[in-house]
Amino acid sequence: MVFYDLYVDVNHKDKSLYGNNTIVFKTVADFEQLQVDLSSKLDVDSIVYNKQILKYTREHNAVFVKFPATIKKGGVERIKIYYHGLPTVAKMAPWDGGLVFSVDKEGKPWLGVACEGIGASVWWPCKDHLSDEPDSMAISGPAAKGLQFISNGRLRKSYKLKDGREVNSWFVSYPMNSYNATYYIGNYENFTDTYTGPTGKKLDLDYYVMPYNIDKAKKQFQEVKPMMKCFEQYFGPYPFWNDGYKLVESPYLGMEHQSAIAYGNDYKNGYAGVDFSGYGLQYDFIIIHESGHEWWGNNITMADMADMWISEGFCTYSEVVYVECRYGHFDALKYINNKKKHVENDRPVIGAYGVNNEGSGDMYNKGALLIHTLRAVINNDKLFFDILLGLQKDFALKQVTTDDVVNYYNTKTGLNLTPIFNQYLKYTAIPTFEYTLKTSGDKTQFMYRWKADVKDFAMPLDLFVGNGDKASPRRITPTTEWQTMVLMGGGVAPSIMVDTDHYYIKVSKPE
Ligand SMILES: [Zn+2]
Repeated sequence: MVFYDLYVDVNHKDKSLYGNNTIVFKTVADFEQLQVDLSSKLDVDSIVYNKQILKYTREHNAVFVKFPATIKKGGVERIKIYYHGLPTVAKMAPWDGGLVFSVDKEGKPWLGVACEGIGASVWWPCKDHLSDEPDSMAISGPAAKGLQFISNGRLRKSYKLKDGREVNSWFVSYPMNSYNATYYIGNYENFTDTYTGPTGKKLDLDYYVMPYNIDKAKKQFQEVKPMMKCFEQYFGPYPFWNDGYKLVESPYLGMEHQSAIAYGNDYKNGYAGVDFSGYGLQYDFIIIHESGHEWWGNNITMADMADMWISEGFCTYSEVVYVECRYGHFDALKYINNKKKHVENDRPVIGAYGVNNEGSGDMYNKGALLIHTLRAVINNDKLFFDILLGLQKDFALKQVTTDDVVNYYNTKTGLNLTPIFNQYLKYTAIPTFEYTLKTSGDKTQFMYRWKADVKDFAMPLDLFVGNGDKASPRRITPTTEWQTMVLMGGGVAPSIMVDTDHYYIKVSKPE
């Protein structure tokens, strides 16, 4: 897709939506029929092409648009779809997805939409696949008197309708996933700030909040500047600079809507005031996590839902990076290791490809713990962080697969990390380090191996060998075959301590 020009008129009284979308597309092959995705709950009123009304058929959530003659390859064409209906209403946004109709504390209408997973076609007609991003997009809509229509990108113009309502027209100047397109309608008050990047370039920070929360917001959103500084240092420049950065108070917890992040964390640190991290309430989880997605998810996007760990795993790791940047390595270690107890290891992190199938919810914590483990394996922090910067630079505004990410790591490190990625992402179990110690006289035989599903699994591991303060660090490279090392005790039988703080593994010592 080249461009979408979307107009939506959402009515809070009867929960209906009237809209139209102009779709501008490049033709990559000759065709007579075009598939557009739109929820079957929404009626198509008409489809216009070169002043002609087109015929179409519908099947479930697809609209098959028929052209009067073959559309030739290599051109740029446009159609405009008019539609309306009663779209899916979310029961538990952002987790289930759909439209949100709410009221603020003063009883005024407060509307929004969150549709990750369920898909953008729940509220507007588009090519609803992650691998198909428009180069830019316009989103416009009216708001009832006293309310404002807020969306992604920058406000380009406002105008009044005959009925007195004001339309805000927003423009996104970068490619964007369809599920990131959004709107917020409410009694918003706006305040602004500026972040100065390392090169001296200024980024607009724009905040839209409920008027009764303005003081809280001005305090809570101070975290944005140090966060920008940390993320820019570790991941590179804020990817959507020309569109600015926005936090918009939302009637649901949060969502990574590109350049218009939904904020519903109640101006509290942690997760709405709760400390799931086990580390403390040092920061506002929604600001940090959802903004992390501007790099992981929005700048680099997974090409298929099955690879959603690329977005959520790296984004969860960006929390660790933030803690490290602001509070130091020791705190970051505590933070990431607390994530271990939240991993279910119930099913693989990667889902089924090509069918909009997400893998296990472990994509967040296990994904982050995989990256943490890779940091130990790579054993060179400079290189490890250069890879994160490199991924952001080399895959900027692109859609990637797990294979792309794995190949990138292999190329940059010169290591074969494929078996490690495969074990953590494609199997339920994590690798187990098995070892035995047999002492006779002054000698101890130390035998060890990895137990893993991946046949050629091999991963270096850091240990402490010896007793008490005589223990010395040592790196070994176990494979799935037993290996033996002879340790000299010096009168005392040595012991082994595995560095589990830097790895996400199991350790087993069968007696
Ligand atoms: Zn996330």
